[in-house]
Amino acid sequence: MKHLIYGIKYLAKHWILRKDDPLICGLVLHNKCNLQCRHCTIIDRENAHMSFEEAVKVIDSFYSDGGRCLYLEGGEPFIWHDNSHNMEDVVIYAKKKGYYTVVIYTNGMQTLESDADTIFVSVDGLLKTHDYIRGKSFERILTNIERSNHPSLYVNYTINSVNKDDISDFCKYINEVPQIKGTFFYFHTPYYGYDNLNIDLETKNKILNKLIKLKSRYKILNSFPGLRSAMRNDWKKNVDICRVYEDGKYFKCCRENKNGALCNECGYLSYAEIDQTLKLKPGAIISALKYF
Ligand code: SF4
Repeated sequence: MKHLIYGIKYLAKHWILRKDDPLICGLVLHNKCNLQCRHCTIIDRENAHMSFEEAVKVIDSFYSDGGRCLYLEGGEPFIWHDNSHNMEDVVIYAKKKGYYTVVIYTNGMQTLESDADTIFVSVDGLLKTHDYIRGKSFERILTNIERSNHPSLYVNYTINSVNKDDISDFCKYINEVPQIKGTFFYFHTPYYGYDNLNIDLETKNKILNKLIKLKSRYKILNSFPGLRSAMRNDWKKNVDICRVYEDGKYFKCCRENKNGALCNECGYLSYAEIDQTLKLKPGAIISALKYF
């Protein structure tokens, strides 16, 4: 209920007072990861490591600015620790502080239990494709998912040139896994340059069309308005209501936002969902309420 009241107040402020509080803070706990995926160079970055005290400071300051949604990310957040503190201590602190939503983005290689409100696990295709992209990990991740009792567990699937043809079979497969509440689809964004995982706009639109059709049959979390907006590529980019904090700095929207040049090719479709929610599209609001 408090999520709903917060959402209604946020939308009223947005439309009536034309004022937006900060909405989401992504906290990069560190750049360490126990996988080496083809599309990611995070472990090559400087060895950013957040102390528990720094995490508390950022959580407090974002809360004072009006933020109530926290995303924990990395690297791999489940393997972060600072002396005796681990990720769960950060989750518990944020919940006690009064955050309405604490979300974890994980590669799923650890046991998937947490007091966080939602866990998103990255799975980029069926066994052969996923393992080609992320290294041998599919079976372990699926075992961890099947053993999890978390009530709000979702999968993130980032579409690229390698896994684009797995989508229908993947949706069918996921429908049979009761622990997974749904799949959220992103597109590969050329954060690190135009590699062979990239897909052109025309192909993206064909895939989006397919997702719109598949959505009536399968547990797809992207909303119809979000998918249609992605087709038009008209969602607001480079948004300052979403921030990422890493190594003493806040980044507007995402860490790779050097000068906004990438935004037109951004595949981070959860921001398309936020944009459509702010535009009061019912489908996007219903979808957001599932994991916010
Ligand atoms: S590429 Fe642009 S729109 Fe996409 S997440 Fe980064 S800053 Fe935001």
